[in-house]
Amino acid sequence: MSQRYDAIVIGTGQAGPSLARRLAGAGMSVAIVERGLFGGTCVNTGCIPTKTMVASAYAAHLAFRSADFGVDLPGPPAVDMKRVRARKDAIVNDNRGGVASSLRGTSGVTVVQGHARFESSREVRVDDRVLTAERIFVNVGGRAVVPSIPGLDRVPFLTNSSMMGVDFVPPHLVIVGGSYVGLEFGQMYRRFGSAVTIVEASPRLIAREDPDISDAIRDILEREGIAVRTGATCITAEKTSSGVRLGVDCADGAPAIEGSHLLVAVGRRPNTDDLGLGKAGVETDARGYILVDDELRTNVPGIWALGDCNGRGAFTHTSYNDFEIVAANLLDHDARRVSDRITAYALYVDPPLGRAGMTETEAKTSGHRILVGKRPMTKVGRAVEKGESLGFMKIVVDADSKAILGAAILGVGGDEVVHVLLDVMYAKAPYTLVQRAMHIHPTVAELLPTVLGELQPA
Ligand SMILES: Cc1cc2nc3c(=O)[nH]c(=O)nc-3n(C[C@H](O)[C@H](O)[C@H](O)COP(=O)(O)OP(=O)(O)OC[C@H]3O[C@@H](n4cnc5c(N)ncnc54)[C@H](O)[C@@H]3O)c2cc1C
Repeated sequence: MSQRYDAIVIGTGQAGPSLARRLAGAGMSVAIVERGLFGGTCVNTGCIPTKTMVASAYAAHLAFRSADFGVDLPGPPAVDMKRVRARKDAIVNDNRGGVASSLRGTSGVTVVQGHARFESSREVRVDDRVLTAERIFVNVGGRAVVPSIPGLDRVPFLTNSSMMGVDFVPPHLVIVGGSYVGLEFGQMYRRFGSAVTIVEASPRLIAREDPDISDAIRDILEREGIAVRTGATCITAEKTSSGVRLGVDCADGAPAIEGSHLLVAVGRRPNTDDLGLGKAGVETDARGYILVDDELRTNVPGIWALGDCNGRGAFTHTSYNDFEIVAANLLDHDARRVSDRITAYALYVDPPLGRAGMTETEAKTSGHRILVGKRPMTKVGRAVEKGESLGFMKIVVDADSKAILGAAILGVGGDEVVHVLLDVMYAKAPYTLVQRAMHIHPTVAELLPTVLGELQPA
């Protein structure tokens, strides 16, 4: 059975549904195909469930710290993981249902459930249906990488997806991977009551960040009792009577790590291996990411790739921005480009890390003459008042142009505060603009002008 549309969208992640609605609004007939859960990674196994659970973990943490604030509880706080999971499920289900119902309720959009594969550059097969269109938009996202650790195939292990079904507190959660996903789960489960060991092959955690950020985050996690093993490559995995044992190749520490449960969080790979891209002639890089130009067009005219599968971003906001870029170019005669956007993201450990632009290391190696302003959160009144004064703020500027090159706000509210600097960066305004703004007291953001007044050569 062959069905013709003006456009086909593959995947209902963070770009597909908005694009399908926009195209339909412009009068096109659109088929959108989803093989799994509506809303994709962010809604079902990524941002939304993890941040919901981070909130439960934060509540537990504050409850355990209540005496610090002069508040006595009748007894030690207890975490009920079934209710933590139920709260998470309710929020996820609400979001997932919203994506599905808004698509089904949009005139001009046909929802097709099943796995899509290209038959040619204009045809997509979903089971026994062949959909044809002159424009095809790929938004297939990615999934967790399973590392090739000898023995891992015989050990029960968790990923960010299967973690969503956990409704108990693992006695000892061992996490392979000390980057964004691993650290968020690590701190969360420590706060729920698990012993947690994080194993990272690199010499430091989140090695893409500056060393001072890695060190501060390690300190934050270790203060909560999380064991961190860096420079430790997993070489074996085996099942034990009580869980799992990892053999590690390391200069320091024991050569074996035992735990009750294992979470693998070593990165993501694109869902492009079973998409029939070869039949459409769409090119990928060696890791399977679809190659796109600055407007997200693939090498095949009429096929675009948006979101994690194009390797140009790995976040919900980059995927959504991809939708905005494609829609602007196709429908609004507005020449938006991927290269217009400024790197920005957050790491949702507590306190969070808000990041914009370059790291200090990147700014140095890019040849700029840089100035750096830094302030510990112990010198931020709002953080002290809240009893959350771990971390620091760091801003990197170009000494010559006065442009803000990058910022890292590791501290309470850091994920929000960094937007002050991000917007100034988008405005291409000098950092001195921030110094002339009157900020609200008491906030974390009120100290940004002070940090900028204390810049030093790096
Ligand atoms: C644990 C975790 C926490 C995260 N936290 C954050 C965060 O706090 N902030 C943030 O910005 N980002 C976060 N991310 C990243 C974020 O979830 C992703 O960047 C985002 O979801 C990418 O969206 P996407 O549109 O590329 O695709 P996805 O959301 O992955 O959606 C792709 C969709 O395509 C479908 N699909 C795939 N192949 C086919 C096919 N052949 N046929 C039909 N359908 C198909 C899939 O079923 C899926 O529904 C997190 C990720 C993880 C894993």
